[in-house]
Amino acid sequence: SASHLSEAPADPAKGTLRILQLYPREMNIYGDYGNVLVLKQRLAWRGYGAEILEHNAGDAFPADIDVIIGGGGQDSGQVVIQDDLQSIAPRLRELAEDGTPMLLICGLYQLFGREFRTHDGTVIPGIGVLDLETRGGTERLIGNVVATSEEFGDIHGYENHSGQTFLGEGVTPLATVVKGAGNNAEEKHEGARYRNIVASYLHGSLLPKNPAIADFLLRSAAERKFGSFDAAGLDDSLADLARSHAAERPR
Ligand code: GLN
Repeated sequence: SASHLSEAPADPAKGTLRILQLYPREMNIYGDYGNVLVLKQRLAWRGYGAEILEHNAGDAFPADIDVIIGGGGQDSGQVVIQDDLQSIAPRLRELAEDGTPMLLICGLYQLFGREFRTHDGTVIPGIGVLDLETRGGTERLIGNVVATSEEFGDIHGYENHSGQTFLGEGVTPLATVVKGAGNNAEEKHEGARYRNIVASYLHGSLLPKNPAIADFLLRSAAERKFGSFDAAGLDDSLADLARSHAAERPR
């Protein structure tokens, strides 16, 4: 794994969080990399450092990871990474059970579940960290989404997937859909929550418009590593503006 972007803490009393992005080559569509940049910038604004690492197929899995970020990808990209994902699954499971915060979008959300049976019948095995499974449909679910949750308030994003995800009892929905489809065309659920994992179909990227989710990931990571988190208030007026514009967009 290569560390490709590092920033030392501006406040010498504060530490550095190590953020790992999974499979940026294949699993990084609709600007999902923006999620990593948001975490890095919110840490910098609060005086913390950030070290961004990448895991691509064939890399050795790095030690001492504080946050894991996974994006979306085409079915063909999911096939490319499936063997490597199985090979690092024991580490990912250990980290998940131990409370490592993770954000998993779309394609990697699906593969952290039990399996993804694509629309052409290909079965891509998942790693079963999340109690859910996904089946490809003929119809793609595409468009702007607004969903509402007790934990994070309203969540805004954009979905484009053929896989439809059904949750088991081991996870809870992240949010209830107000506009759009979310996990599938039948229920009004979007995403999944388990331990410190937030899984979602929403691109956009998600975190620039949803700072409450960014701060959940950062707080969980900082409390685990440093015992506390300085959640100094930030000026989120641009995020608020983007949310209000997004809310007005047609489906
Ligand atoms: N290939 C998957 C699907 O179509 C995931 C798509 C995505 O990540 N946007 O369901």
